[in-house]
Amino acid sequence: MRHSPVCRNGCASVWSDMSLWVQKYGGTSVGTTEKILAIAERLAEQRRQGHRLVVVLSAMGGETDRLLSLARQVHEQPSGRELDLLLSSGERVSIALLSLALQELGCSAVGLTGRQAGILTEGRPNKARIREIDTTRLQQWLDQEYVAIVAGFQGMDESGQVTTLGRGGSDTTAVALAAALEADECHIYTDVEGVYTADPRLEPGARKLEHLTYEEMLELSGMGSHVLQLRSVLFAEKYNVPLRVLPAFGSDSGTLISKEAEDMEQATIAGIAHNRDEAQLTMTGVPDTPGIAARILGPIADAQIEVDMIVQNASRDGDSDFTFTVHRNDYAAALEILQRIGEELGARETLGNRDIVKLSLVGVGMRSHAGIASRMFRALAEEGVNISMISTSEIKISVVVEESALETSVRALHREFELAEAA
Ligand code: ADP
Ligand code: ASP
Ligand code: MG
Repeated sequence: MRHSPVCRNGCASVWSDMSLWVQKYGGTSVGTTEKILAIAERLAEQRRQGHRLVVVLSAMGGETDRLLSLARQVHEQPSGRELDLLLSSGERVSIALLSLALQELGCSAVGLTGRQAGILTEGRPNKARIREIDTTRLQQWLDQEYVAIVAGFQGMDESGQVTTLGRGGSDTTAVALAAALEADECHIYTDVEGVYTADPRLEPGARKLEHLTYEEMLELSGMGSHVLQLRSVLFAEKYNVPLRVLPAFGSDSGTLISKEAEDMEQATIAGIAHNRDEAQLTMTGVPDTPGIAARILGPIADAQIEVDMIVQNASRDGDSDFTFTVHRNDYAAALEILQRIGEELGARETLGNRDIVKLSLVGVGMRSHAGIASRMFRALAEEGVNISMISTSEIKISVVVEESALETSVRALHREFELAEAA
């Protein structure tokens, strides 16, 4: 039996031979009461078949954005604590509605907030991490044959405050619960048929993948594919929870995300991810002396701004240009800091560009294939797309291009690597 350290009470399984499924439905899938009723019908049927069910829900589609905008109407920079309190309410609405819909069908169901489900968190408000899960209460409900419906994206910290897990956090709630309860399966239901070779909204020719390794999904999520929150994939890999991403309303078998199997045929490239959340900052004509990178990035780090890609170009006359990317939300603050440092260092220019996008090619098969990077750069060049930054890792190549070239670039890469064709 898999042992999960996230489970505090040892997970004594009293329901040994009946399957336990953890399912998660995203915002669009619970966006209307009609959809909630349809999900309730299916859950009631699964209960009749004898499955034990824990269902994690997101807030109804658009609700989290609506709550965020309400907060910003009354305060320019809402405090983390109150924002957590506000945002966590969206998920409570959907769990209460689904519990009621199940009860109406004569099926025992109970709605539980993150706190009631025993989810303990640590770390920053709005970006909390799950530290451990006390499953005692949840198991009691399951033992009484209830469908347990858990509010996604939230928990409680040591001081008893409600916390939220960052955008897309319900995925992480589901996977962490599956690990803690040693569930047989974890299903992530969403508004597409599974994980595709590229965002199907950008590339209509994108192909649904049957299978991905944790490693590939980690890179895709880390590089901006919002279909699964990065932390949920980290949990799945750590506790070896096989995940299936499926359509909420359809019969497709979706995409399985699991360990690499020995007999698994590997495509060179699994998919293309894009991330529109970053912005680029450049300082030109900085003296090329030891410690210069620390002089520039130190104050940025002191302001709690995370830096992603970094490039430094040395020129022949002893100057260098320094470019890096930050989250777009931090762009204005980072530019202000950079302008100040630029004056202190006597830099030639300080420039910024908010309208960039990071494109990444991901695939474990890349390890054994040379020349992927040059094919990528050539395909972009043929479309007249200028690359401003490049970074690589063992199974990923990322480039930064102008946001206006996003669609052209994704389609060019999809064509070049023949991703519409099955491997
Ligand atoms: P949910 O509300 O169910 O959590 P999300 O909006 O978070 O759904 O994630 C699903 C969306 O992810 C899809 O509608 C799709 O536009 C986007 N997406 C981005 N990259 C991919 C990809 N490679 N495969 C599938 N979907 C992707
Ligand atoms: N409701 C939250 C969001 O919109 C969490 C989630 O849906 O996973 O980000
Ligand atoms: Mg999501």
